[in-house]
Amino acid sequence: MFSKILIANRGEIALRIIRACHELNIEAVAVYSEADKEAPYLQLADEAICIGPADCSKSYLNIASIISAAEITDVEAIHPGYGFLAENTEFAQICGECGITFIGPPVEAMKNLGDKVMARKIAKQAKVRCVPGSVGTIEDGPEALKLANDMGYPVIIKASAGGGGRGMRIVHNDISLRSAINSARAEAEVAFGNGDVYMEKFIVEPRHVEVQVMADSKGHAVHFYERDCSIQRRHQKMVEESPCPILDKKTREELCGSALRIIKESKYVNAATVEFLLDKDKNFYFIEANARIQVEHPVTEMVTGHDLIKLQLQIASGMPLTLTQKNIKLNGVAIECRVNAEDPDNNFSPCPGRITRYIPPGGFGVRVDTHVHQGWNVSPTYDSMIAKVIVHQKTRTEAITTMKRALGEFIIEPIKTTIPACLEILSHNLFVKSEVDTGFIERNF
Ligand code: ADP
Repeated sequence: MFSKILIANRGEIALRIIRACHELNIEAVAVYSEADKEAPYLQLADEAICIGPADCSKSYLNIASIISAAEITDVEAIHPGYGFLAENTEFAQICGECGITFIGPPVEAMKNLGDKVMARKIAKQAKVRCVPGSVGTIEDGPEALKLANDMGYPVIIKASAGGGGRGMRIVHNDISLRSAINSARAEAEVAFGNGDVYMEKFIVEPRHVEVQVMADSKGHAVHFYERDCSIQRRHQKMVEESPCPILDKKTREELCGSALRIIKESKYVNAATVEFLLDKDKNFYFIEANARIQVEHPVTEMVTGHDLIKLQLQIASGMPLTLTQKNIKLNGVAIECRVNAEDPDNNFSPCPGRITRYIPPGGFGVRVDTHVHQGWNVSPTYDSMIAKVIVHQKTRTEAITTMKRALGEFIIEPIKTTIPACLEILSHNLFVKSEVDTGFIERNF
């Protein structure tokens, strides 16, 4: 096992990783930008090192600064968390060249799964159904027009390097196809430095269901069942739960088995999430795989009882997975609500500022993953997510009750947060009946 690692991230996930390190007797080195220098989790780290100014490109995305910090502190490995450099193949490669273990997949597997067009090819080789669509990337031209007409509208144009819902366009007719392809390309070029786009059939009112998997370097892989992340606003998840409330045993087995086949086909190592869309007839289609730990991993931890960050650390250090699929059982229901510093009454616009009053919830079945506290200044520079509230109960009905109670207790003032919006979702009769799909928020709020 490692004795010392560096965490190339900030906020709640940095703290989450520090905690896992300490339980495994690993020293944790935190990095921080000038904007985060007051963060109390830095005190919990064994060492903390400044890597630059607030601007991400000069700190958390600055590969040279992070590698220097790793060399100065003499760490054996780097955990990238999620976002920032987590799926940056150049960073993973440089870590390897510097003799530092990247706590994530091999560069080749990350490259293949990170490119969505390539990932679709891998899924097909693994005999997993993808959303019908183009074989490779598409251009604005007669071929795209023919494909859209053959499949039938609506179709969706997506960026091959995509993430965070960027570079996506839903198209309803021939007239708008051209401009959609060109604007998706332009957006993808700016966001990812790669303007390649592809086309998929737009699945009407699907659920987003994803499978957590973990593979070791000896070729052994297991899954940790699925999460339902259908509650999304502009393709961004807001509320997640595990298990998916409407899956029957047979579909669950097929879904999780498909995810494992993709992971094996891509020679993947470490934690990954394989994402699918589930249509009204419970047919599922692969959409993409995320080669990192995800924001919503705690719901899986609660229902399976396994610490996914610890498993990541063990696998990266070369230890084999001792878990077999039979040891991984689903127990109860977990729900996560993302608390973002955003104003739900003002189109969810960011709401940074200093928190002068902060009282987190607690009690039976409640977990809060956060780095904020009274006096903390929410910076406008970073992602607006400031906390995750996770509840675990025997049944979904009890989990909803506990979540409402927990969110009702949560005081964060004076900034606006998504707590009232989450409470409205939890009280909506369609959410309670779990008759939801990815368009639920747009239609009902
Ligand atoms: P990103 O990597 O940008 O998050 P994804 O491929 O994971 O993109 O898709 C994000 C969300 O967009 C999905 O959860 C779903 O709500 C919607 N989506 C993506 N592809 C389709 C599709 N073919 N049909 C319907 N909705 C889609």
